[in-house]
Amino acid sequence: MKKSVAASEKPVKAKEFDKELFKRSVEYNVRTLYRKNLEEADAQQIFQAVSYAIKDRIVENWMETQKAYEKEDPKMVYYMSMEFLMGRALGNNLINLKAYKPVAEALEELGLDLNLIEDQEPDAALGNGGLGRLAACFLDSLATLGYPAYGCGIRYRYGMFKQEIRDGYQVEVPDNWLMNGNPFELRRPEYAKIVKFGGYVSVHTDENGRNVFTQEGYQSVKAVPFDFPIVGYGNGIVNTLRIWDAEPVECFQLDSFDKGDYQKAVEQENLARNIVEVLYPNDNHYAGKELRLKQQYFFISASVQEAVEKYMRKHDDIHKFYEKVTFQLNDTHPTVAIAELMRVLMDDYYLTWEEAWEITTKTCAYTNHTIMAEALEKWPIELFSRLLPRIYQIVEEINRRFILDIQQKYSNVPGVDVQEKIRKMAIIYDGQVKMANMAIVSGYSVNGVARLHTEILEKQELKDFYEMFPERFNNKTNGITQRRFLLHANPLLADWVTAHVGDDWITDLPQISRLKVYADDKKAQQEFMNIKYQNKVRLAKYILEHNGIEVDPRSIFDVQVKRLHEYKRQLLNILHVMHLYNELKEHPELDFYPRTFIFGAKAAAGYRNAKLTIKLINSVADVVNNDPAINGKIKVVFIENYNVSNAEIIFAAADVSEQISTASKEASGTGNMKFMLNGALTLGTMDGANVEIVEEVGEENAFIFGLSAQEVINYENHGGYDPMEIFNNDQDVRKVLMQLINGTFAPGDPELFRPLYNSLLNTQCTAKADTYFILKDFKSYAEAQKRVEAAYRDEDNWAKSAILNVSCSGKFTSDRTIQQYVDEIWHLDKVVLK
Ligand SMILES: *Cc1c(COP(=O)(O)O)cnc(C)c1O
Repeated sequence: MKKSVAASEKPVKAKEFDKELFKRSVEYNVRTLYRKNLEEADAQQIFQAVSYAIKDRIVENWMETQKAYEKEDPKMVYYMSMEFLMGRALGNNLINLKAYKPVAEALEELGLDLNLIEDQEPDAALGNGGLGRLAACFLDSLATLGYPAYGCGIRYRYGMFKQEIRDGYQVEVPDNWLMNGNPFELRRPEYAKIVKFGGYVSVHTDENGRNVFTQEGYQSVKAVPFDFPIVGYGNGIVNTLRIWDAEPVECFQLDSFDKGDYQKAVEQENLARNIVEVLYPNDNHYAGKELRLKQQYFFISASVQEAVEKYMRKHDDIHKFYEKVTFQLNDTHPTVAIAELMRVLMDDYYLTWEEAWEITTKTCAYTNHTIMAEALEKWPIELFSRLLPRIYQIVEEINRRFILDIQQKYSNVPGVDVQEKIRKMAIIYDGQVKMANMAIVSGYSVNGVARLHTEILEKQELKDFYEMFPERFNNKTNGITQRRFLLHANPLLADWVTAHVGDDWITDLPQISRLKVYADDKKAQQEFMNIKYQNKVRLAKYILEHNGIEVDPRSIFDVQVKRLHEYKRQLLNILHVMHLYNELKEHPELDFYPRTFIFGAKAAAGYRNAKLTIKLINSVADVVNNDPAINGKIKVVFIENYNVSNAEIIFAAADVSEQISTASKEASGTGNMKFMLNGALTLGTMDGANVEIVEEVGEENAFIFGLSAQEVINYENHGGYDPMEIFNNDQDVRKVLMQLINGTFAPGDPELFRPLYNSLLNTQCTAKADTYFILKDFKSYAEAQKRVEAAYRDEDNWAKSAILNVSCSGKFTSDRTIQQYVDEIWHLDKVVLK
């Protein structure tokens, strides 16, 4: 067991941080963990020693918090999510303990640099992108606001892959994040659960004449939880992220030489090994893999069992479960929780269907994250029923009863085609189990993640459901935590804000609006631009170290970082860079403000066009960055391995925030909010939360372009549009498209980018071409980019807009989002520690 000196001391409150004690505890930890003095320890060992010293302090608060929950017995939310994109813990924990600066000083006195120590920590990258990072921001806000909460997820052995760029191509490298051990986690074998897969269901009638269902001939896995502390900001609260590891139920029993047993033991061992091995690297895309469904049921069954057992440890009436527990389902990935809760209530607690249904529908709430068809989870009946035979029976019964409801509601309504209603809304249809439909039918809340997205759900995508259950639908516009994305990520700006308006913004972001009075203040503008410049220097250094490219921090930093996806339209951005390059080549005298186009994006490993877009960006970078004719006026940089920790450096340094998704496709976006908070101006479409960002800051402080969501939807409902018309009439577009197939950026292989060309202009089938309206929006985008350049030339006015972006970002804190979930969905009470 790893133990350190602070563990035996009394808990120390954040205010009275004892530097000397902390220094002794680091030295002690290095000694007991590694038998070394500080001078002998390497950087990773020092990181471990510092982390254990901090963990000791966290544990005290963690115990106090859990004791208070035990005593006050408040209602709890279980935030169920396949993904938690946590990033690094050490710096964030120090921030939330209000100990960052004293610890940095203490370490400096030991001759150590906290920033370098932080860099030793691997990101906990247990998520793909926005959805996983949202879950992480929500946990931070829940703890900071003092709400009792558990995050429930999977302890993947390998998180999101590391991206390397070789010869311009993405190469995926396994992310062995647990290699050096994880100082903050706690293994809790006493809460292990058994999860059953496969076999068959037998029915017999008990002495009361009730049908009893038992799963037999199954394989099982032991789910063992690991707990992570989630530290609230300055309030002593520590909540828990509980992620499940898989172990074989029993070790190999070599003495049990029955052939069947031996075979089964091997299979169970393999199941346990595989199940938590790796995060699926698809963002907004459903792959339909059997192992994925196993992962879902694995962590859900364990979490639901634990939630019920925990409740029953303190209460005797299971019927009131929903008064103390609520499940928030982060997308459809955890929706099997609905059937699992029904199963536990009926099979383990002997409730009737009606009793179990009443509890389940008052416990479960669902968040919809996308309207894109390729993201909707639909499991083939064969697979679902083979893997989860008892769960499938329950889903069938939910479906049977729901179809009766539809028939009852619509059979006598003139003009309504009941069969059509059933076709659209049934949970099981056409040989598939539709998880979104189950989530809507079986819960008490369905929420979208930005106002526009919720409107599209209600009026188009989920119109039939909205008609049946209007009271269930609601909007919760996403948010981000300012503790990580300003206080930790951008200390210069954070200190500047605090110097002007005080530090209330740290827990009450709308207070940052008091900065508005400085937007017109020349001195404030200069200070702001100076801080931005220093952050650009920091990023330039990172780029030089990691990419070997020199960029000028006086150029405009125009940034698009997010997952690579056709709907996010990185292709539009790079085609426009190609166009600017053409202009500069043709008109070398052009008065062009130097611009650095910065990209960062991981593509799903099997997503051909996405990976080819990365290659295109790097190929354009190669040509443009090395062409002396343009005199360094355009630089293109692709930052390798975009993740939470380098994101923090990137947002702080951005001038322009590229949020250019095809309108209607980006449900919310949260990257847009992080940029705004750091004073970047949005260049974007009226999509997702961009709509609300512009509403807050004013259209004159953003650059909006392109089709509206309704225009896109109208085109889609009429079979698309004809990109050939644009190709034939717009010479700028025609030129960049020809460059995709004439070897300008692929001298050795002119056909290399043909698939991208075809995706925009498939001459065989125009209806299927440019489904993301890239060519349609190109001209409007290029014009908006001209406005960006003109605006940046007026530095004072730019600074004013940037300051206004910071001061109008108050709405986009995840503290506000969580408060709305609490008030309008969960109805939790705050717990205050004495
Ligand atoms: C915020 C964030 C995202 C989400 O970005 P969007 O632009 O909203 O897609 C993805 N990845 C990381 C690392 C993030 O921090």
